Amino acid sequence: MNREIMVSSQIEMRGITNPAVLAAMRKVERNKLVPDDLQPVAYADNPLPIGHGQTISQPFIVAYMTELLDPDPSKRILEIGTGSGYQAAVLAEIVKDVYTIEIIPALAERAKVNLEAMGYRNIHFRTGDGGLGWPEEAPFDGIIVTAAAGVIPEQLMMQLKEGACLVIPLGGTSIVQSLSVVVREGEKFKIRETIGVRFVPLTGVTQQ
Ligand code: SAM
Repeated sequence: MNREIMVSSQIEMRGITNPAVLAAMRKVERNKLVPDDLQPVAYADNPLPIGHGQTISQPFIVAYMTELLDPDPSKRILEIGTGSGYQAAVLAEIVKDVYTIEIIPALAERAKVNLEAMGYRNIHFRTGDGGLGWPEEAPFDGIIVTAAAGVIPEQLMMQLKEGACLVIPLGGTSIVQSLSVVVREGEKFKIRETIGVRFVPLTGVTQQ
């Protein structure tokens, strides 16, 4: 089975150990969120184009970012950059609720249709500028940004619960960005860099 091989050869091999993350990666049907002409490579070890100049992330990066969020069934997570909906689906297998925002209306609509057809009822969709967060649903137990920011949107930091973290690629349009974890400690924020990544840029008012 493609997903079993994907998990053992791309994800476990690179050190992901969280059992809930591994189970979610084994379960989510990535092929249903990939364009028809890319079906043969739906489980390949790289990102894939999804139209509008955007991408579905590499499976390992999705697993790595999910593990950094330390997800569990009590948590409510905000995702910025719905894209194909794959990261949202992986999170929705583990956490209580996923709130996902996409700035390109056609992608937002396609992800919503696909994820609802796949049976997800705990993913909440919004079309708009995710850099502003989702204040009506804040605070969140974790926030994940799946596009590269030049600056960390302050609105997102302020929508974190105490002790919660924001996982975000930092580096804007640089070729390699640093996947960073920002942890809220009262009114202070601690930033830790992890691995180098390559994401499409975060757009919107917070990046101007
Ligand atoms: N998480 C996605 C997935 O699983 O397929 C991959 C996301 S793709 C690498 C980045 C997405 O972020 C694109 O769909 C892009 O349109 C979106 N994006 C960029 N800036 C945004 C913003 N300010 N608010 C919301 N979405 C944004």
